[in-house]
Amino acid sequence: MTHPLWFDPGLCLIGGAWVKPASQQGLSLINPSDGSEIARIARGQASDIDAAVTAAQSALSGDWGRKTALERGRILTRLGRMVLERVDDLAALEAMDVGKPLTQARADAVALARYCEFYGGAADKVMGETIPYLDGYTVYTLREPHGVTGHIVPWNYPMQIIGRSVGAALAMGNACVLKPAEEACLTALAFAHLAQQAGLPAGALNVVPGIGAEAGAALSAHPGVQHISFTGSVATGALVQQAAGRNVVPVTLELGGKSPQLVFDDADLDAALPFLVNAGIQNAGQTCSASSRILVQRGVYEQVKSRMADAYADLTVGPAHEDLRLGPLISARQQQIVTGFLAKGSDLSIAGQGRIVDHAPAGGAYVRPTLFADVPPDHVLAQDEIFGPVQVLIPFETEEEAVQIANSTEYGLVASLWTRDGARQMRLAKQLRSGQVFINNYGAGGGVELPFGGVGKSGHGREKGFEALYGFSQVKTVAAHHG
Ligand code: NAD
Repeated sequence: MTHPLWFDPGLCLIGGAWVKPASQQGLSLINPSDGSEIARIARGQASDIDAAVTAAQSALSGDWGRKTALERGRILTRLGRMVLERVDDLAALEAMDVGKPLTQARADAVALARYCEFYGGAADKVMGETIPYLDGYTVYTLREPHGVTGHIVPWNYPMQIIGRSVGAALAMGNACVLKPAEEACLTALAFAHLAQQAGLPAGALNVVPGIGAEAGAALSAHPGVQHISFTGSVATGALVQQAAGRNVVPVTLELGGKSPQLVFDDADLDAALPFLVNAGIQNAGQTCSASSRILVQRGVYEQVKSRMADAYADLTVGPAHEDLRLGPLISARQQQIVTGFLAKGSDLSIAGQGRIVDHAPAGGAYVRPTLFADVPPDHVLAQDEIFGPVQVLIPFETEEEAVQIANSTEYGLVASLWTRDGARQMRLAKQLRSGQVFINNYGAGGGVELPFGGVGKSGHGREKGFEALYGFSQVKTVAAHHG
């Protein structure tokens, strides 16, 4: 087949050179819109990871390590501009690889550019402190990079997750080894090509595609890595943390959620409705911060249910390039997982469903978006992360009950409140167990500037905003005694 690939997808970037991986055995990259093979990609092994870590170490003691914060910032800013110039190319790659509708893929590419711009501008604005201390001392702190940082990235938002973790790590002067997901790695490779063109020195960014249990496990256990940023499932996150723990290496874990939106009787429903639905079905529900639980106060429950059901009836699912509201899921495996969850809802009532277009290729990983109503808060569909376009409606009577239900899962990534009552907004923003709380909105437009991360099984550590720069650096305290 012909496709918009403008680089060799079968190579790894190690120390500034595009090289064949140690193993001849490649991996098949599948287009989830129709099940066809896009390309063969590298199946990186421990030895490739080892070479990438060595290259990153050399970069730190070489050209990259000598760059000033201003110079690092300029490279990132230039990279952001180059990403913006290639937004359509990157979106086409992502749509083909992830199955993401083109408009959503384009938004991810714009966000990647924005991360580069944000962290490019911030690189020389992270400062230490001077600390009042004993007589005869001057004490100050330095913010230093960790060294080699490992970045294990999932398939759902490759560009955004690379932007927020690699962008911040480079801004602080770390050298990165990136292991993209085996299901979707084209934009990671494309980004690395652009980074080279933007003047990023050899070894500052290394990319080794491969499967999790091989390249991912080798990266998280490598003794030459000083920090790991992981986004993905709880089970894998725990494995990565264990492996990093053996080397006493800090990890940032971003592991998904079961994020609620709380709709009170006094809410502006016209404003809320688009967010209630879109936050659940964007990227076909394969979003760590997807809002999969909609908690609605009794007084407006029937109205919200019927309006959301109408919105679901308008949802169409089809190939990514047709740019409908939903594309396919990432893979036949993910389709099976989501279909399994839908079967677990056979005891529930379905309030609304979208439709798969008739001409959708049989080999595509399509599922119908589904809204379940009157779901008990302890039902498996109201507790487990599904990672597909499935939302549950849960009625509640009182504010206390709403908070109790909202906080009743193992997760805590994002929550939102829809209410005009200012006192309630302030109260609940404190009471909700969640890394982010949105009031009368959801997601705040992506929020490159806004610290992001979870509590509980949603993970720990924060990315995005300035918090990521603190996470990708460590404080050194210097105490000078001068009498
Ligand atoms: P995963 O956690 O297994 O994969 C994420 C990344 O980790 C990939 O790059 C993968 O290669 C790597 N990986 C896998 N095993 C590894 C290991 N042993 N050591 C180091 N790295 C390893 O997720 P998945 O299998 O792609 O998806 C499974 C479920 O995870 C989904 O159904 C969904 O619930 C969840 N998920 C969450 C997010 C998120 O953004 N929070 C993203 C993707 C998947």
